[in-house]
Amino acid sequence: AKLWHELRRRRLPPLPSVRDLVKLYQLNAIKQLSQNFLLDHKLTSKIAKAAGNIENCIVCEVGPGPGGITRSILERNPLKVILIERDKRFESVLKILQDACPGKIDVYWGDVLSFQMSKLIPQEHASPWDSYQPKIHIIGNLPFNISTPLISRWLSDISEQKNAWTFGRVPLTLTFQKEVAERLTAETSTEQRSRLSVMAQYLTHCDLKFIIKGSAFVPKPDVDVGVVKFTPRKEPLIRQPYRLVEKVVKQTFCMRGKYCCRPISTLFPNIVRQSFTKMLFEQSLVYPNTRPYELAMEDFERLCDTYASIISTYPEIGKYEYRAVQADIKWENEYGGKFDSFKLP
Ligand code: SAM
Repeated sequence: AKLWHELRRRRLPPLPSVRDLVKLYQLNAIKQLSQNFLLDHKLTSKIAKAAGNIENCIVCEVGPGPGGITRSILERNPLKVILIERDKRFESVLKILQDACPGKIDVYWGDVLSFQMSKLIPQEHASPWDSYQPKIHIIGNLPFNISTPLISRWLSDISEQKNAWTFGRVPLTLTFQKEVAERLTAETSTEQRSRLSVMAQYLTHCDLKFIIKGSAFVPKPDVDVGVVKFTPRKEPLIRQPYRLVEKVVKQTFCMRGKYCCRPISTLFPNIVRQSFTKMLFEQSLVYPNTRPYELAMEDFERLCDTYASIISTYPEIGKYEYRAVQADIKWENEYGGKFDSFKLP
């Protein structure tokens, strides 16, 4: 079966190597765009393979640069490849690929952070969320400086089934700085367990596929790189709005080494902090003397559900933002009067 797959792999017409094209067109990496090129065909193929079966699928690649990964994607017989790239210097090299595979590649120029992928893919490729996965994949060797904000944005889009996820449970195969990849996929009670782990894992199954040594990139970055595959879950493990989950998880990890009741208490304004924290822990049945990284997903689920029920009874409490400038003074000025003689029911 393996040999059969190898034989079916599409051979691209003879092309100059990506390395030669980079030299020929003087495509020096620009530091501000975090450009680190992957020119080793074995590794670009490993990334394309990590995405799973992409044959006859629409593959959206973010930040193709000179097109090393793009070539490896094309070798796996996708139906169409959609490229989103910000740096127009790559126009000529990507045009060479477009000419070699007529009708296969669409290139869009712009910032992936503000791109609505739903506009680029025909609706006929959609599949209902709770049915099989659509034949659409997102792949990218992302710039490190945008990889974390981008995955946060996309997780929020997954939770609302927006952007590419209007088409169903579209999987993503992306590169991150090794530490970030480890945090995204860390299990409960491990050293890397963090806010990112909970946010990624309540919405997706995410796997750290492999690590690429920094020395494989040109120019070599200071860090190694992890390839992570995310597959959106049919049912999120926490059934609350993304912003609410994000707020609870963010506050939980704001003091990593303390027992979780201390950081979680910052969800509540100073003047009612003690009583509401007590209410949250009593109702959610979470043990307050657990460290944030020891909390299981079920604990976060109960904390989020209980916080949601508290703020539906006391909407003013939901307006409180711990880190905001003069958060307590402003909150007390606006709502404090109502809570002056507040006693827990
Ligand atoms: N995929 C290529 C490879 O593996 O050799 C290039 C990887 S390089 C780390 C990141 C690429 O993303 C660059 O081509 C860069 O121009 C592009 N890029 C940077 N910021 C971007 C953004 N906001 N939107 C789209 N592309 C971006």
